[in-house]
Parts: sequence; structure tokens; C-alpha cells
Amino acid sequence: MYYIDPRFDHKRTPSFLNDSPNRTHEPVIIGRPDHAVSRSLIASSALKVLYRLKDAGYQGFLVGGCVRDILLGITPKDFDVATDASPDEVRSLFRNCRLIGRRFRLAHVRFGDHIVEVATFRAEHGGEEPDDEGSIEEGEGDAEIEAELAAEPDDRRVLDDRGRLLRDNIYGTIDQDVWRRDFTCNALYYNIQDFSIWDYAGGFADVEARVLRLIGDPETRYREDPVRMLRAVRFQAKLGFSMDPATRDPIPGLAGLIDGVPPARLLDEAQKLFLGGSARRAFELLVEYRMFEHMFPATARHLAAEPDGMASRLLRAGLESTDQRAADGRTLTPMFLFAVLLFGPISVAAQRRFDQGVPANLAIAEACDEVVSTQVRRISLPKRYSIPMREMLALQPRFHRRSGRKALALLTHPRFRAAYDFLLLRAAAGAEDPALARWWTEIQELSHDERIERVEGMPIESGQGQPGKRRRRRGGRGRRKPAANPPA
Ligand code: ATP
Ligand code: MG
Repeated sequence: MYYIDPRFDHKRTPSFLNDSPNRTHEPVIIGRPDHAVSRSLIASSALKVLYRLKDAGYQGFLVGGCVRDILLGITPKDFDVATDASPDEVRSLFRNCRLIGRRFRLAHVRFGDHIVEVATFRAEHGGEEPDDEGSIEEGEGDAEIEAELAAEPDDRRVLDDRGRLLRDNIYGTIDQDVWRRDFTCNALYYNIQDFSIWDYAGGFADVEARVLRLIGDPETRYREDPVRMLRAVRFQAKLGFSMDPATRDPIPGLAGLIDGVPPARLLDEAQKLFLGGSARRAFELLVEYRMFEHMFPATARHLAAEPDGMASRLLRAGLESTDQRAADGRTLTPMFLFAVLLFGPISVAAQRRFDQGVPANLAIAEACDEVVSTQVRRISLPKRYSIPMREMLALQPRFHRRSGRKALALLTHPRFRAAYDFLLLRAAAGAEDPALARWWTEIQELSHDERIERVEGMPIESGQGQPGKRRRRRGGRGRRKPAANPPA
């Protein structure tokens, strides 16, 4: 659905896109009657911030994804404010405000559990968007950058040897701020003064045409901050935009720059990519643009070896169900997502151990540790995710035990719910007998007495996977999580 007034002239080509970022341009100003950003669509907290800035004599603009999303008829997930007030000036205006960020000071104004982020205009373009300090996982991964920053007393631009921008920390005006933004659709400013939209980069027309276009020279901008390539995929997947060829074409060749991104930042970005409701599409695009192999190298190798294998089916089904949960407004757990993403290499590592006679649950736990220890070099995986993931996967063999009252203990295990969901996924991917999944679905619907009757009536051997070929030992070892050999 389009929310843009058709009277606006979209034909204007943004001729200055490759200009020097420091040049001042006049914005195209789209008056209130000519666009669909109504105050009724803006969170009251963000409006309060904007009015307070305005009343104190400062400029106040909404900028970024919120303006873009409202124009597209999407409810924004957060509201970002840009202003000419310095971070300290912002802080003095709001009681409920704290300054965050190490590379760049940002004000977080809190309203209950909701935060409005207020950024002072920045003079230099490019730059790694500062992360919320809270999202840097246990300080992992960022040490190198931190060390570089500590050694650099100056505020000016610092590039690493791959052209990646490590620091830019100079405040400026709106017509400088615009050039540091990534895509034209993210560089629209909604002015609280007169409710107009200021468009320096042609973003208004691009939103209408649903085109993702990087501001400035794409290769330079990707080198400054390779995360922009991931953001490009995320917006393409989430918004259904197409990429302008100049924005798209350099990506596969530059995808290797992802290796230099701190693992903590990649964790943030991976969660946005895979927990935002368009995981399946994002995955396909990441593979197409050669970025997935830099994010999940072991998984990518596994998928390349067995493109139609069980792990590939499970991954796609898992991402689809994640998207469905997001659409239904249900909770999404990162640990489940990582189990889906890492299942291929984990099952290979587990199979190796089964073959050596290691008990199934132990084999799986060890396999998780092995795969996670390599994966964290790319994407940090905090223990609060990796430990529950390991527990959930190591519970999978227990589903084979269905006889005797002890089998029922699984139902009260704290990880039962997630483990059961994962069982369903494995069954859907052909990695498990669907009858086993059905049995565990049914037992949950029974009363206490019926459950006992059911498990006591189960023959000892019948719960151990499909009858047939393999001989099974006690506990059903051997039919756990087969790596590449789904049951017939
Ligand atoms: P969403 O909130 O829906 O994920 P968004 O566009 O608002 O999308 P944020 O991460 O909230 O994304 O960033 C807010 C704005 O900051 C962006 O719209 C963009 O203008 C700018 N920005 C964010 N990250 C970068 C980056 N890596 N390089 C340049 N500009 C960026
Ligand atoms: Mg945003």
C-alpha cells in the first residue's frame, strides 16, 4: 500500500549522490499536505521529545527507519530523533535521560520501558553506527576496536587498514548529518517545526519506488562499515525493496569484509536479520550475496556439501517457523534460532562421536561445544544462549524413551517446550519419525492418569525410533540426530 501523495514529483533524480559528503545542499522540502507522516502515527514519547527540543529553541527531526516505515504504512519499531542540541544540552532538557555510546554520545530518553534515542547531528559521513552499550555482549569481540580508540586521542576520522571507519565524533548540522546515513530511504527528516519532510538524498522517491540506494560511493561506504551490506539485505528482506544495481553489485566481492566486524556487533545484526520476521528471505539473500559463509562458515560448508540434505531442510523450515512466530507476535528465543542455524555442523560433530560409542546426549553436548567454540570467532554467542541451546539439543534423544513413568519426567523439564518444538522441526525436516513427534504432542493433551496408562502400556523397545535396519541398544542410541541420513 502506498502512503505517498501522488502529487509529489518523484521523477527528480538525486544527481548529487556521489558528491563530497561535506558539501552543503538544499533539501527538497515536502510539505505536510504532500506526505503521509501524521502525528497520530508517531509515538507520543517521540512527540514529547520533539516538542521539548523545539520549545527550547533547538531543531528536532524524526529520522531513519521510523519516517521510512510510516511512509510505507508499517508501524515503526522505534523512533529516532536528530537534533542540533549537543548531547549535554539534550540531557539537561530531560530528567529521564542518560548518555550512552563510546564512539559517539547519544541520549536515551526513557519513557517507562520505552526509549527514544536522540542523536546530535554529525559532521562527518561514514562511520560505524554506535551500538547501545547494553548490546555489546560481555565485552566480547570489541577489544581490538576499544584498544584502537584508547590509543587515539583525537576525535577525527580513523580508518583501519581495510578502509573501515573506526571513529567519527564531530557534531555538525543537518546538511552534514545526512551524508553519514546509509540508504536514501533512511535519510528522510521529519521536521517538528512545520511537519514537513526534508529530503537531501532523493529518499522520498526511492521509498515510493521501493528502491534501496546507498548514499555516496557504494564500495567506499561498504568499506567504511561492512555492516551496511547486512543492513542492505535486512531492508531488502523486510521491506521487499529491490536494490539499486550500484548498491547491489559490489556486495558479493566485498562480503569478505564481514570477517573484520567485531563479533558482538555481528551478533546484534544477526539477531535483527533473523528475528525480525523475514528470516527465511534474509537467509536466501545472504547466501546469494556470499555473506552467509562469512557469518556461519561451518554451516555454509555443510550446506554446500549437502544442499538438499536434512540440515538444509531443517534450517529453512526453522526460519519459516521463526517468521510465523514473529507474525503471530509470539516470543522468539535466540538460542532456538542458533540451534537452527548451527544444526548441520553440530549433527556432523555429534555423529562422529556416536560412531565412536559416546552416549547420545553427551555426544550432542560435546558437539555443541565444538561448533560454538569456532562459531564465536565470527558471531559472539553469549553463554545465556549457548548453554540453553546445548541443553535443548542434548534432550533430543530423550524423546525416544516412551515407556515407564520415568519417560514422563521429560514433560516437566525446564527446556521441554523448546526441545519439543525442535523435535517437531526435526520431524518436519525428515530427521525424525513423525509418529514420535505425534506421540509427544498427544501425551501433552492427556490427563495425569491417562499419561501413566499410556507410558506403562508402551513396550520397552517400541519408543526407540523406527523399527528396522539398525540394532538399538538401551536408550535407543544410534537413532539420534542422524547427520546426513534421514530415515527413509
Ligand atoms: P530499523 O530500526 O527498522 O531496524 P533503521 O533504519 O531505523 O531501521 P537503525 O539501526 O535504528 O535502523 O538506525 C537508525 C538510522 O541510523 C538509520 O536509518 C540510518 O539513517 C542510520 N544508520 C544506522 N546504521 C548505520 C550505518 N551502519 N551506517 C550509516 N548509517 C546508519
Ligand atoms: Mg530504527
